[in-house]
Amino acid sequence: MPAPRPAAVDPAAVVPVVVAVDGPSGSGKSSVSRAVAARLGTAYLDTGATYRAVCWWCLEHDVDLDDRVAVAEAARQLDLQLGTDPADPSVHVEGRLVTDDLRASRVSSAVSAVATNLDVRAELRRRQREVVDRARQERGVVAEGRDTTTVVVPDADVRVLLVADEEARLRRRARDVHGSDDDAARERTRDEVLRRDRDDSTVSEFSVAADGVVTVDSSELTLEETVEAVLALVARAVPGAVPAGLAPERVVERAARAGAR
Ligand code: C5P
Repeated sequence: MPAPRPAAVDPAAVVPVVVAVDGPSGSGKSSVSRAVAARLGTAYLDTGATYRAVCWWCLEHDVDLDDRVAVAEAARQLDLQLGTDPADPSVHVEGRLVTDDLRASRVSSAVSAVATNLDVRAELRRRQREVVDRARQERGVVAEGRDTTTVVVPDADVRVLLVADEEARLRRRARDVHGSDDDAARERTRDEVLRRDRDDSTVSEFSVAADGVVTVDSSELTLEETVEAVLALVARAVPGAVPAGLAPERVVERAARAGAR
């Protein structure tokens, strides 16, 4: 799903809210989180990009992903810069812009091997929290991933688990990656979505909401409806954080339709 065009937000009116969004592949969490950040005027942190960056670097340098010590060392040494503008999130590794390289299938297929390395997780969480802590002092942040609501920012103002049924997730990912959601494209996407989620779920819980985390089901919602559902939760938790003009009544109604619970 492409992110909708960001609305201009007056920087003086931005309330530095912290929102955490987790979910499985294809739940739409990146598009939704980017759009929510753009509407609120906050930064955007894609925690998955940090795991992808380590994976990409290891593949480029022929580091065996099963060598846990070497991969953890790579994570600690990596020169990684994350751009947090929701309109143009970017990743630089050793000064090279790699944002698009990180989405390649060879990275998507291999990244769980990196993400299940607990020493890598410790290092990347440390870096992710640095970004969140900086943003908290400035314009706030929407952070998304698999464990942002539970481990990276469990004290976020708003914590959302974004879910969608399997068919909806396969369809969305097939369209993103293969440009079509016909049977063949959905089949090709199956490993990337379902096997990856199965592997990832051995180290993070992102199919059942933890206490205090609100579940939003996007299976039957458009991107805009899902964004409005999350904005409604922000409006409820932090009055004043959602800029005037975003029609809070409509937003609340959307949240109810999304089954936010
Ligand atoms: O969200 P995205 O698909 O880009 O994430 C890539 C991978 O990074 C996931 O499949 C998972 O292995 C890992 N990840 C994680 N914890 C996070 C975010 C991503 O383990 N918070």
